[in-house]
Amino acid sequence: METIRARIDGGFWHTYQALVRERVLPYQWKAMNDEIPDVPKSHSMQNFRIAAGQAGGSYEGMVFQDSDLSKWLEAVGYVLMDDPEGASALEEHAREAVGLIAAAQQPDGYINTYFTVKEPGRRWTNLRDAHELYCAGHLIEAGVSMFRGTGDRKLLDVVRRLADLIDATFGVEKGKIRGYPGHEEVELALIKLYRLTGERRYLERAQYFIDERGREPSFFDLEAEAPGFVSIFGAKPLDYYQAHAPVREQREATGHAVRAMYLYTAMADMVLETGDPSLREACDGLWESTTDRKMYLTGGIGASAVHESFSADFDLPNDTAYAETCAAIGLFLFASRMVRIHDEARYADAMERCLYNGILSGISLDGERYFYVNPLEVVPAVCDANGTYQSVKYRRRPWYGCACCPPNVARLLASLGEYVYHLQGDVLYADLYHEGALSAEVGGASVTIRQKTGYPWTDTVTFDVEPVSPMEFTLALRVPAWCRTPSLSVNGRPVEEAAGADGYVRMRRTWRNGDRLVLTLPMCAQRVAADPRVRADYAKVAIQRGPLVYCLEEEDNGPVLFTIRLPSSAPLTVAERPDLLGGVVTITAAGTSPAPGSSGGGLYGVRGHDHPLIDRPLLFIPYYAWANRAPGEMLVWVRE
Ligand SMILES: [Zn+2]
Repeated sequence: METIRARIDGGFWHTYQALVRERVLPYQWKAMNDEIPDVPKSHSMQNFRIAAGQAGGSYEGMVFQDSDLSKWLEAVGYVLMDDPEGASALEEHAREAVGLIAAAQQPDGYINTYFTVKEPGRRWTNLRDAHELYCAGHLIEAGVSMFRGTGDRKLLDVVRRLADLIDATFGVEKGKIRGYPGHEEVELALIKLYRLTGERRYLERAQYFIDERGREPSFFDLEAEAPGFVSIFGAKPLDYYQAHAPVREQREATGHAVRAMYLYTAMADMVLETGDPSLREACDGLWESTTDRKMYLTGGIGASAVHESFSADFDLPNDTAYAETCAAIGLFLFASRMVRIHDEARYADAMERCLYNGILSGISLDGERYFYVNPLEVVPAVCDANGTYQSVKYRRRPWYGCACCPPNVARLLASLGEYVYHLQGDVLYADLYHEGALSAEVGGASVTIRQKTGYPWTDTVTFDVEPVSPMEFTLALRVPAWCRTPSLSVNGRPVEEAAGADGYVRMRRTWRNGDRLVLTLPMCAQRVAADPRVRADYAKVAIQRGPLVYCLEEEDNGPVLFTIRLPSSAPLTVAERPDLLGGVVTITAAGTSPAPGSSGGGLYGVRGHDHPLIDRPLLFIPYYAWANRAPGEMLVWVRE
């Protein structure tokens, strides 16, 4: 699969990419160097210094602490692809980190500071818990990204030696360990490394890890029976690791949501490489299970804090939602592969749902605070008092002891240019609307396409097509499922072209330099209802406009938000508010709620003195922007 990459140079996502470059990554560098007071220590860089023999002391942090630095490096690689001149401070930090990683590499290629520093001699003895292959995967992704961003081979050479060691260590061949990782990630990383290097061994080893998962007897059981096995996190049910059945037999999204998404992403990547029909069927089933029955409106997944896992179908509680930022990122990655397999817009719709809502809510507007858990309803006093809500925070945190999410958001936002288009033969699919330029080979000829748009606030997207010489190809424009009345013009003339069953409007013509195509996707505020089987949302509505899900915050609407009713007849009014939350479009409506002090007969009263309703003006803001002001209640689903 060919990667085509647009350079995002304006609009909504450019603002976020600039934030990542200028604030997020410098801030996270400080966090990983333990230079931010009063936050949980990362120790990531220090662990590498110790492993490299450049410092004394002991390993600290989670067993997978190395992966934070790898994700950060991967993000820096993307920043440098877009902006090689403007990020010299970041590049200097990255060079320091790469030097340390190289120095921490063992003579046979092994890298993992936990085992090098803390448990020498015990490497590869606990694949279930130890995250060695997970950390290796993130490091491999960093090596690929840094090479693409800088042209410097240093980290790439390091990770190739690591991948070669993994290739030599795992497999069905005699003398190899016939195991697979407890936390998937190395599979998709090896496929990425294969795509860059053309080295088939990496693809084959990824295939092995995918095929081996779930075989009986379970490798995790055998491993745990070995003499001297030391458990780190304790045994969990096999479906926690998606290891309860061979992956081709799996149809239900189960277990730890991030693990699941990284596996499904790798499976879909493998379908793209091999066309394997049984793997494709499994991907389709797992996709439906995830997005038809187990996904929040925000694209958040993993409803349960217990094991950070999927729950039963339609069990999507709003207040105890786990919906880890990393899991929404994982779903975005899975969706990005599915859209390339099927060329259907609904997969890109899901990418958009995750991106603008459940992923973006993971980071504050100033880039220095993060949510791990992304609820759809919060009452701060309850979160403080009731242990059931232990993981639900109503303020983003400056850092976490387990800091998987912050650098994951950074790398995703920095890499967005890779996901906005995909190419199939001479059909160029426009999947995510943005402001930027793509230069690509389409059907054997070079073309530049510039998009201009105020998306997600305004509804017009302009495409300027600039082929080197006149050329015929198809431009397929996604019509999001929320848009009923798209319209299109070419060089100022309206075109009657409806979206196909795949959700794309296809424009095939001989494009000439200067051709301009304008797509209009009228955005109005819309009410959304959930499948009635989602009991948390029954008889409630949520508000969305374009790709954005909206919410109520106490700051604008006062407390006890859960009592609010929004009559189905109440008009929804849209307003531009450049002054609010970095500039947003708000939605207002007239709601009602019980009059304060109208509690009648105490805590409980026999029906008869029902509470009189008073008018309550409502102001909805985009969900991603919540918790950037004074702490307070928040609510997505409102009673109708
Ligand atoms: Zn995370």
